Amino acid sequence: MKKLATVWLDGCSGCHMSFLDLDERIVELAGLVHLVYSPIMDVKEFPEGVDITLVEGAVGSEEDAEKIRKIRERTAVLVSFGDCAATGNVPSMRNVFPVVDVLKRAYVENATHNPGIPREAVPALRPRVQPVHALVKVDCVIPGCPPSAELIWYALKELLEGRMPDMAGRATFG
Ligand code: SF4
Repeated sequence: MKKLATVWLDGCSGCHMSFLDLDERIVELAGLVHLVYSPIMDVKEFPEGVDITLVEGAVGSEEDAEKIRKIRERTAVLVSFGDCAATGNVPSMRNVFPVVDVLKRAYVENATHNPGIPREAVPALRPRVQPVHALVKVDCVIPGCPPSAELIWYALKELLEGRMPDMAGRATFG
């Protein structure tokens, strides 16, 4: 049985919501894979020897960068899952502003209680949000914002049967 992981970096969780839209196909998937790491389960450390990892979200923080490098080392087939992972998409809209302005906007100008930029507990932002492939090798892309459940299912079935999904002309929007 293949080991499957799903990861959430700098994204909105919409790609994972679309994953859950697999609905009854999740029962079939559960018979085909061993889910070893995901935001929908409570595992703290990304495991070794994962066959397929779906990565939602771009790389926006130093923590994201550290995570994706470790995930790449431990994964056979790394999939950019959705447009944020593939292109930077929504999170990269902040790239036109200096990081300090982004932090001020979020934590000072828009704060109704205790305004102030946090100095601890919040991962440090990188100067620019980048797609996953800018940091590590990506083997496959599932496009869309979010990808539809149908496209996710197609891609997973192909990968589980040992084929690279052919995504030409398949971009969908869930
Ligand atoms: Fe959210 Fe769209 Fe990014 Fe997925 S691709 S994390 S749905 S903004």
